[in-house]
Amino acid sequence: MAITQRQLFLDHLAQTTDFPMSLEIVRAEGSYMYDPDGKSYLDLISGISVSSIGHRHPRVVEAIKNQVDQYMHLMVYGEYIQTPQVALAQKLAELLGEGLDSTYFVNSGSEANEGAMKLAKRATGRAEIISMKKAYHGSTQGVLSIIGDEDFKRGFRPLLPGTRSIQFDSEEELERITNKTAAVIVEPIQGEAGYSPPSQEYLGALRKKCNDTGTLLIFDEVQCGFGRTGKMFAHQHYGIKPDIITLAKGMGGGMPIGAFIASRELMAHFKDNPILGHITTFGGHPVSCAASLACVNVIVDEKLAEGVKVKEQLFRELLVHKNIKEVRGKGLMLAVQLDTFENVQTVIDHCLKNGVISDWFLFCDNAIRLSPPLNITEVDIRKACKILLEGIDLI
Ligand code: PMP
Repeated sequence: MAITQRQLFLDHLAQTTDFPMSLEIVRAEGSYMYDPDGKSYLDLISGISVSSIGHRHPRVVEAIKNQVDQYMHLMVYGEYIQTPQVALAQKLAELLGEGLDSTYFVNSGSEANEGAMKLAKRATGRAEIISMKKAYHGSTQGVLSIIGDEDFKRGFRPLLPGTRSIQFDSEEELERITNKTAAVIVEPIQGEAGYSPPSQEYLGALRKKCNDTGTLLIFDEVQCGFGRTGKMFAHQHYGIKPDIITLAKGMGGGMPIGAFIASRELMAHFKDNPILGHITTFGGHPVSCAASLACVNVIVDEKLAEGVKVKEQLFRELLVHKNIKEVRGKGLMLAVQLDTFENVQTVIDHCLKNGVISDWFLFCDNAIRLSPPLNITEVDIRKACKILLEGIDLI
């Protein structure tokens, strides 16, 4: 018998979990993906908040094609003037406002956080980095040290010294931030913990504590940025600004790109002795930057962040069921809280069978993750919720 794609996938692609979804997709467009038999799947996950303007948005595809026709890679980051990088950095500065106007482009969320941590250490001369319990910041060695989950770290010690995590959304725990702390890194809305927004008071107190102790505040908006919560950036709901922001995922419209962004003064520390502060070969790849600029312009021009509030409301109205404990989150970053892991499994399986993609959280195994494209239609929201509710009926 001929060997299947699934077998080749399992044989040759390194697996780091025993439960890969193993779904073969041959085409994706808008909110839909298609398998080799032509079966369609409504995507309620967007590759974990990546395809936030839908798959293969025409303006992103066009920008990629135009850039490929001009040039692809030229030189390591920062040497040549590459207009896609300049235009994107200028746009981000405009959207983020004062104090966040100097961008360093990288390739992923992990790298963005690695860069932010290095910048904080260099700028403050301190070593301690405080993160939050149940935070996820990436999988490379440095950010692994600041993930707020012990299981993830097992077998990888020793990690970075001087890292510790505190309880998210707890004002009491802020006492642990001192004048020895280089930076506190926090997701303004925690992603893998199951989409719990913190209180306004908490973020205000965190900002104040950082100011009082000379600690830099890093907001990881890798998952919650770029319109997902109903504003371009999640911190804009709170009116509280970080010293450094990290971005990736939805930034690229489906292409790999990330960034850490700070003020010019702060970023200047990378030029202190020794001369080279940070280097990347592929960071800010011109094709990714062109795609990202097109993606950001789509979010702005099509007023996608504004539309998110209406769509969130519709999900909340429809997702009412005796087995749903809570629908939590902000914008199109929604967690449907059930009671057990097994029940989540039942619903996710039912959805998959019926052509709807939903997913788990890394650190919250009894809730279903919903992060659909921001431009999902009302018709598709109704269809998705009908199938989700049928699944929830089964538990
Ligand atoms: N930060 C957050 C908040 C994330 O959700 C993720 C990815 N899930 C990362 C960082 C890491 O990003 P990447 O996988 O691109 O390295």
